[in-house]
Amino acid sequence: MAKQEFKAESKRLLELMINSIYSQREVFLRELISNASDAMDKMYYRSLTDESLTFNKEDYYIKIIPNKEERTLKIIDTGIGMTKEELETNLGTIAKSGSFAFKNDTEIKDGFDIIGQFGVGFYAAFMVADKVTVISKSIDSEQAYQWESSGTDGFTITPSEKQQVGTEIILKIKENTEDDSFDQFLEEHRLQEIIKKYSDFIRYPIKMDITKKKPKDEDSDEYVDYVEEETINSMIPIWKKNKSELTEEDYINFYQEKRYGFDKPLKSMHVKVDGTIRYNAILFIPENAPFDYYSKEFEKGLELYSNGVLIMDKCADLLPDYFSFVKGLVDSEDLSLNISREMLQHNRQLKVIAKNITKKIKTQLLQLQRDDRENYVKFYEAFGRQLKFGVYNDFGANKETLQDLLMFYSSTEEKLVTLEEYVNRMPEDQKYIYYAAGESIDRIKKLPQTELVADKGYEILYFTEEVDEFAIKMLLKYKDKEFKSVSSGDLGLEEETTDSTDEKEKEENKELFKYMKDQLAGKVTDVRSSKRLKSHPVCLTADGEISLEMEKVLNTMPNNQQIKADKVLEINVNHEVFQALKDAFLNDKNKLNLYTNLLYNQALLIEGLPVNDPVEFTNDICKVMIS
Ligand code: ADP
Ligand code: MG
Repeated sequence: MAKQEFKAESKRLLELMINSIYSQREVFLRELISNASDAMDKMYYRSLTDESLTFNKEDYYIKIIPNKEERTLKIIDTGIGMTKEELETNLGTIAKSGSFAFKNDTEIKDGFDIIGQFGVGFYAAFMVADKVTVISKSIDSEQAYQWESSGTDGFTITPSEKQQVGTEIILKIKENTEDDSFDQFLEEHRLQEIIKKYSDFIRYPIKMDITKKKPKDEDSDEYVDYVEEETINSMIPIWKKNKSELTEEDYINFYQEKRYGFDKPLKSMHVKVDGTIRYNAILFIPENAPFDYYSKEFEKGLELYSNGVLIMDKCADLLPDYFSFVKGLVDSEDLSLNISREMLQHNRQLKVIAKNITKKIKTQLLQLQRDDRENYVKFYEAFGRQLKFGVYNDFGANKETLQDLLMFYSSTEEKLVTLEEYVNRMPEDQKYIYYAAGESIDRIKKLPQTELVADKGYEILYFTEEVDEFAIKMLLKYKDKEFKSVSSGDLGLEEETTDSTDEKEKEENKELFKYMKDQLAGKVTDVRSSKRLKSHPVCLTADGEISLEMEKVLNTMPNNQQIKADKVLEINVNHEVFQALKDAFLNDKNKLNLYTNLLYNQALLIEGLPVNDPVEFTNDICKVMIS
């Protein structure tokens, strides 16, 4: 029989297809299995209108048979089959989808699961096969036919033998090349893996004979191979089940089966949406951050399924960066896919889903925060940093979404608290939300700057992470209350207006401070009498936007631009040390220079900033000891 040629355009298209549409060869199996599933769905729909047909689910399955000796891989289905004409049009014309036509002609819309639509999936077989043979017997034909093609040079159709209605596809698997292993597509375990990955939720069993070992006979150490047929796919996706049928245990098992993490999820969410875009989602909040979470290597994303068939491993567009820790999947029947089914045609659909999911995640987190604080704190310790980055990034575009999820260590509660809890506790006369930044809770507790605010009985939030102050600068306010660093110039406290020192004394002090400031030229921008110190003699604060903590952080950045805070040396005029300064100012300028340097260096140390010249500093201390 003469070979029929693919149409001219088809030839070029086929070459293009085979070589460039799919990024991974292994998807050929997904495509052939999807077609088999479609063919069985068509039988089912036929049985709904044709009374002479009964549909027994047990009769419908897909069988995969690899044969290493012959280098063939068979995919057999018990679906509706193809007539001679259908073989010719559906497989002979590229981009002709019998399934698409079927969908348009069929009334039934509900629970409609037919996957095919582009009429190119079948040709993915040529990515791994030199020759493809299709033997099919249609429900509408007594005679079976065989379609065969070695790729671009066309195809033949000849009568064939086949008893059962359905289709058998035989791939002659390519020989290995230097760069590519095709042998893998004949390996049982590899095939199992591919089926699990892409086709786990095909609703018909995908069967395969699996070689296993058993003892030769009882009490024998010798093992022999035997073969057992297994169903590879789990068929019913957990997300299509009713929530009421499922227990927390089921979700945890699913999380572990899917290898979303080695931990257990802290919270699982099962979302079913029946809006303009229908989708199901299973989402998890992990307990621990993956080891690479805060590195560039970490890739966020959810698995994306279209009707139970995996389209994308990690669809990044489904999650905002600030929720990048969420694991799980989305399955939708309303996605318009591109031809390779690796991408979507309209990002609009994804955007709608992503927006919805983001809202759900936030609601769940708030609920966890309210009802299960212990677990929320666990979550926050793992991922709080990401939320704070989220407040700071994109110029604060998401700060409102995230502010209620934030928590900081409280000086009075001695645990993490929310901003809402802080504000609700504020005494009426307190104007600001106070915070203090430092390396650790212990270090901050001892910071002289916190004294006065703490003495007023006000709660102080301790910022121990680098990102904290940056995030708060972006937030500016919470519920109309401004944030204020305990190191800032104006603390907004009552005491500040009632200064006990009289005018004359102030004038005198001014000259002393001016002298000290000149002495510390280039190191501090001012020397002042402090309003925040009680028992400590000195501290450093910062004027302007850059705080001392921010200076530290910015100077650890790779493109460090030597950004400096405007440092102010604050002196406690009620401290005995101040008397010593005054005496020295009047009687011994050398001594005053020495004291000034000492106090400045002490203030640096308290802040956790490096002393410029440690040797000089220790020499200075010795000088004081022997004077
Ligand atoms: P699509 O699945 O997108 O329609 P394919 O290239 O995968 O495109 O398949 C083309 C057409 O060939 C299908 O629409 C279907 O009509 C027919 N077909 C493919 N495989 C089978 C099969 N196993 N049984 C019955 N018909 C099939
Ligand atoms: Mg298909």
